[in-house]
Amino acid sequence: MKPSKRGNRNLMRAINRNLVLNLIQSEGPLSRTDIARRSGLGNATVSEIAGELVASGLVEEVGEGESTGGRRPLFLRLNPAAGYVVGVKVMEQSLTCAVTDLNANVIAHQITPLGTDHQLPVIQALLIEAIQTTVRNAQIGRERVIGIGIGLAGLIDPEHGRIGYSPYFDWRDVDFAGSLETHFNVPIYLENDVNTLTIAEQWFGHGRHVDHFAVVTVGRGIGSGIVMNGQFCRDAAGEIGHTTLLLDGPRCDCGKVGCLEAVAADPAVIRELRQRLALGAESTLRGVEALTFDAVVAAADAGDSLAIDALARSGYCLGIGIANLINLLSPHLVIVSGEGIRAGEHRLTPMRRAIDEHVFNGLREQVRIVTEWVGDETWARGAASLVLGEIFKSPVLGESKVIEQLLPKST
Ligand SMILES: [Zn+2]
Repeated sequence: MKPSKRGNRNLMRAINRNLVLNLIQSEGPLSRTDIARRSGLGNATVSEIAGELVASGLVEEVGEGESTGGRRPLFLRLNPAAGYVVGVKVMEQSLTCAVTDLNANVIAHQITPLGTDHQLPVIQALLIEAIQTTVRNAQIGRERVIGIGIGLAGLIDPEHGRIGYSPYFDWRDVDFAGSLETHFNVPIYLENDVNTLTIAEQWFGHGRHVDHFAVVTVGRGIGSGIVMNGQFCRDAAGEIGHTTLLLDGPRCDCGKVGCLEAVAADPAVIRELRQRLALGAESTLRGVEALTFDAVVAAADAGDSLAIDALARSGYCLGIGIANLINLLSPHLVIVSGEGIRAGEHRLTPMRRAIDEHVFNGLREQVRIVTEWVGDETWARGAASLVLGEIFKSPVLGESKVIEQLLPKST
């Protein structure tokens, strides 16, 4: 069907509004004149859009700028308290739930342990309770929550709010968002957890002013998310963890052999250590029954050479995986994050060395590597960014239910 003239006009308006809002979010506070100059929009258009955004409460006027004669201009900035969002990270043994403002600042958060009953209705009931408690603790009033973002590991169908496969809970093709949307009556956004971190980096983190970057997470598994030409690539599989690194390597959880994850993720470090202990290697970890990743890191800190070796090997292999990613996509920035960063330089120095040694000539100079530890709260903030990203995403990519809630209904 041919779009109507009115439809075109509304879309044009939405595109201009999105442009102004993004400028204010990424570079604000800005004066109306700054916005006109940077966006290429006319002064009248900017004034009209700014008026609408200020009236909605989404943008606020602050301070007075430098005047070049006449009235001093007021700066415009995003009003972080115009609405609140909830982010939940679902893990194997716990749920982390956070309430954030529109700048992704965490107002309240809590961690809920999960029992051994992993049936869908049980987990969903705990999730609902956790969200209610966290919103109550944030003292903002439930009606001010504009959306809920949920991140979890596995194959996710964000468009339909379904989980294709969850490795933690062994769910296959289940509707996850539907009943929650009915319960809370706000949009629910479901996404793979690594993608939620990538979206958070894009809007609020290291990726803010970078058009072309990748996020690689290391922890229980290894995952990746990609932003290219300023767009988050939802359709990129992000399964860097299951690219093959060793022909005769250990078996991976995915069923294949020699995957990067099976060689370089946290459980791989423990498995490697156990094997070498069984072969008689010297270590302070000998005799430790429940060998944890934290125990390995502590042993490495204390100078245990077996622990240091195992972490170094995992870091070097991770670096090869990242070098392959760089050779394939030539990003300008790679953000390495996840719980596994807590191994510190035991893992990161060998990782950087592998990147230096395996990236194709000429590409290394173009890419910056940033490492960032990510805890439970950051993951939940990432999930909240799913909703926040909807406020700023281009209207060309589809209608955003969230922005409609925030703007006055008169338009
Ligand atoms: Zn695998």
